[in-house]
Amino acid sequence: MQNAITNTTDTIAAIATPPGIGGIGVIRVSGADAFALVLPLVRRSQGQMDVPPSHHLTYARVVEPTTQEVLDDVLVAFMRAPHTYTREDVVEIQGHGGPLVLRRILRAVLTQGARMAQPGEFTLRAFLNGRIDLAQAEAVMDLIGAQTEAGQRLAVQQLRGRLSEQLQVARHAILNVIAQIEVSIDFPEEDVPTPQTAALQSLIAKAQQQIEQLLAGSEQGRLYKQGLRTAIIGRPNVGKSSLLNALLRMERAIVTPVAGTTRDTVEEVANVRGVPLHLIDTAGITPSSDPVEQIGVQRSREAAEGADVVMLVFDGSEALTEQDYQVCAEVQAMGFGSTQYTTTYSRTRPVLLVVNKADYPLVIKDEELQRLWPSATLVHTSTRTGAGLPELEDALAELVLAGKTVSSDSVLVTSARHQEALQRVASHLQASQTSLEQDLPLDFVSIDLRAAFEALGEVTGETASEDLLDTIFSEFCIGK
Ligand code: GDP
Repeated sequence: MQNAITNTTDTIAAIATPPGIGGIGVIRVSGADAFALVLPLVRRSQGQMDVPPSHHLTYARVVEPTTQEVLDDVLVAFMRAPHTYTREDVVEIQGHGGPLVLRRILRAVLTQGARMAQPGEFTLRAFLNGRIDLAQAEAVMDLIGAQTEAGQRLAVQQLRGRLSEQLQVARHAILNVIAQIEVSIDFPEEDVPTPQTAALQSLIAKAQQQIEQLLAGSEQGRLYKQGLRTAIIGRPNVGKSSLLNALLRMERAIVTPVAGTTRDTVEEVANVRGVPLHLIDTAGITPSSDPVEQIGVQRSREAAEGADVVMLVFDGSEALTEQDYQVCAEVQAMGFGSTQYTTTYSRTRPVLLVVNKADYPLVIKDEELQRLWPSATLVHTSTRTGAGLPELEDALAELVLAGKTVSSDSVLVTSARHQEALQRVASHLQASQTSLEQDLPLDFVSIDLRAAFEALGEVTGETASEDLLDTIFSEFCIGK
């Protein structure tokens, strides 16, 4: 395979719309020869076409280059560099959205000498040509994949360069300190004053503050992007599937009065106050002799093990049973118990107690459950009447967001890659502060500052390796 990072002179082409049938489909062509390659393929009623004004749509026919067979009636836009997605000359052909039509138009463009684009190669070129930085390029993918409005808002802010702007502030502060140190090291005999430790410390502190702020919001940012795995656990027939359906607002799982209906785990994404919750409805955890049910029970245990949050469901109309206690003990043994989702690294994961069937007279007393789970949030629900469901959503959101929400101008780090790089930045900055405090030679300080500078550059892409770029862009779709 050709290397998309080093081979940037080819003119590339791809179908930019998803596979399948649609109203229209778009073929995108980018590169120095884009105009020259496409022009012989398009005709107007009066014959051959000249390059129309840039960024205008022109109605035309596309013909097969050797047979002159008309392939489709299209709208075509010739867009002159640099005001294009890739900063190269770009042609977009809007044809009818049939897979065969689009493939034949693409083939005609390739026959003319274009190369098939690799996944994400258009966006890669936008990055390599300096139109966007790496964090913005990744935001393109986040925006396409956003699962909730909050996730989409965050991606838009990142795409607009708001995250990059904040990182630049820290980069400048770090660079400023490096420059002062290097000058004093390189020209000791000149009349360059030795930098004041306090002045350096305060500049570094400025960068630290910026990075810490971004890291503080990063856990939240990742929640909005990736969501949380939430396992719905309880003995059979307490209303787990009914709760899943209620949170999804659709009939996804089968609900029957017969215990043991849910034999496998069912997983769906619900939008709970902007957070995508991956809800996992499990077969009840129960001793069973039925082999199929046993597998279901095993899957329930695994789902609970891997979950970030557990919704522990009880049938409020019946007294707690031995099975309920058993389920509680299992979930407790898995390390669930705190009231708030803290960090991915911590093993204390929250439990939400749901006393369902609250339309019946309640037999279970809150105190009984609170004795078992002193700190857990408890809500009463009825999937039959809908009572308590908004409170359940509030409780889930509060558990994970701790009252913070995303406004349209919030800037949060949403990517695990960025979070990891920023953690390295933070630890190098801290090390440089320690070296200054201990009055170590300025070389030591400088080494850590350079490492911090490099790590910051990995986020925006200035110092990203070819391998890293390869990994990031290979996750894109073709045509993006
Ligand atoms: P699961 O086995 O825990 O998934 O329980 P299901 O969701 O399949 O529900 C078991 C039975 O309880 C079904 O007959 C439901 O209609 C009924 N059910 C579920 N939630 C409620 C509720 O809030 N009130 C009442 N009265 N019945 C409910």
